[in-house]
Amino acid sequence: MIPNRKNKPMISIDEALEIVETNTPVLGAEPVPISACIGRVLAEDIFADMDLPPFDRSQMDGFAVRSVDIENAPAKLRIVGESAAGKGWDGSVNEGEAVRIMTGARVPEGADTVQKVELTEEADGYITILKAAKPENNIVAEASEITKGTAVLETGKRISDNMIATIASFGYETVRVGDRPRVKILATGSEIVDVSETPGKDQIRNSNSWSLAAFAKRINADVEILDIAQDDLDGLKATIDGALENCDLLMISGGVSVGDYDFTKPALREIGCEIFFEKVALKPGKPTVFAKRGDKLIFGLPGNPVSIAVTFFAFVRTSLLKMQGATEIRLQESKAIASHKIKAAKGRDSLLPVTLSTDDNGRRIVETLRFSGSSNFIRFALSNGLCFIERDQALKEGDKARVFELEN
Ligand code: AMP
Ligand code: MG
Repeated sequence: MIPNRKNKPMISIDEALEIVETNTPVLGAEPVPISACIGRVLAEDIFADMDLPPFDRSQMDGFAVRSVDIENAPAKLRIVGESAAGKGWDGSVNEGEAVRIMTGARVPEGADTVQKVELTEEADGYITILKAAKPENNIVAEASEITKGTAVLETGKRISDNMIATIASFGYETVRVGDRPRVKILATGSEIVDVSETPGKDQIRNSNSWSLAAFAKRINADVEILDIAQDDLDGLKATIDGALENCDLLMISGGVSVGDYDFTKPALREIGCEIFFEKVALKPGKPTVFAKRGDKLIFGLPGNPVSIAVTFFAFVRTSLLKMQGATEIRLQESKAIASHKIKAAKGRDSLLPVTLSTDDNGRRIVETLRFSGSSNFIRFALSNGLCFIERDQALKEGDKARVFELEN
């Protein structure tokens, strides 16, 4: 167990991520119908339950023949049968014979090649093959794509649209996937009102609950948004205590800094949560809190709408994917070229919302949002990635930057 890090100096993003990963339990698994498995995490390997193709398959509409018979094409052969997709021809092709064959159909015994219909001329029950063909021409050999029993998709992969054909082809009417994490979202702040309200003097609408819900749902969370909590220690304690029932992960927005009315950390401590870290060398996102009570995880995220997004993608996303048994749980890093100077914060690594685009030469280009503060959610709406810059460093125009693409 990592000791309580109260009063400890800031930890790095990587240290924080490791603590999150170590302390995130993997939940159970459930079968879901193939129609509902997109985006979920495989909790079983997908095996080929048959050879593919299951027989020598024709790739063309044409004629199945013996290659030796057409060596000196043109060659005139007698049509002795037809092999259609789903209704193959069971006879054997002998010397001087041809079988009409369709794409996807079984190549009959005796034949070792298929010549396409465009290179043939038919008349009076005979076919003239106009061009020679080597053995195996236009034939996909039995079991050449996959043999029965091979694992084709592994446990821990997130199911994408292009995996569905594989899952369906091997008979998985249902698929075992990691359980959906039960996530609750609590926005705190006496200035925060619901989206349905017109903010009064000193008030703003709650955007964080909706952002966090959107981000979490995309990675399969079963999300419940709780009523907005006031900046009141006793009230917050009772709310958090109750929220931890029937919940795997609670995200609390706001109240994590050092202001007189920031009660998230004292509330967590007083209801018996263990705080693992509360200060990360990250901008934006320094006062991020990670805590646990039993096997329930709690993230306290700084309330600025951009900080909320950055800290969700930096930490909470990883935790939610680990819960589901995913193997790829960190954001995937790639490279892009800085289109202008980008500076990191002093003493803190920066994860800046950016736009990633491709220029006329096919180069990936990164541009910051000319970021004017972590409450600038209007500019943030245009971003599709994050750019990492090491503390105290700066990128100049043309430098290679470390970026993370976000799904949008
Ligand atoms: P806090 O982390 O509570 O100090 O809040 C930091 C800033 O984010 C303040 O300007 C808050 O008004 C703003 N903020 C806090 N919670 C929310 C929320 N749920 N939706 C939008 N803005 C918020
Ligand atoms: Mg607040």
